[in-house]
Amino acid sequence: MIEKASRVKCPDMKTSTSDDERYMAAALELARTAAAAGEVPVGAVIVSGGSIVATGANAPIATHDPTAHAEILALRQAGQALGTYRLADATLYVTLEPCAMCAAAIVHARLKRVVFGAWDPRQGAVDSVFQLLYSADLNHRVDAFGGVLHDQCSAQLKTFFKQRRGLDSLSGV
Ligand SMILES: [Zn+2]
Repeated sequence: MIEKASRVKCPDMKTSTSDDERYMAAALELARTAAAAGEVPVGAVIVSGGSIVATGANAPIATHDPTAHAEILALRQAGQALGTYRLADATLYVTLEPCAMCAAAIVHARLKRVVFGAWDPRQGAVDSVFQLLYSADLNHRVDAFGGVLHDQCSAQLKTFFKQRRGLDSLSGV
């Protein structure tokens, strides 16, 4: 279901760094905690000033909150940690390409950069379905880069959905 896009559509996707892999590994760890709680495994961290200032693990089921995506939770926490809603020097790392809601929130936060792991061909709003971070109509543009630790991020999601399908068939759903 989550396949790497055949080509990157974003015009300004910058190259990744070794730090990117380190922070994506931290996001993968958060995604694992989401999976353990029965949530779709997506994890996010926000880095500012060279350290992680906020984390998020996907939690819409547990919180009864459709907006409780990993990115939104991390953005809220980063705002509290930094004492501002404008996170201009921050980079968000997330294991799955952000959806339209999260991409819009990222623009509102004035984030400097977004790095994601797996592409989401059905809902991705950075590159796959929409390119919201690159809209000429927005007065803020966010650098984005996809595919960091892609194989691990993609495998984690595939394993989760495979296991869930197995459980569904057992319970007759
Ligand atoms: Zn989202």
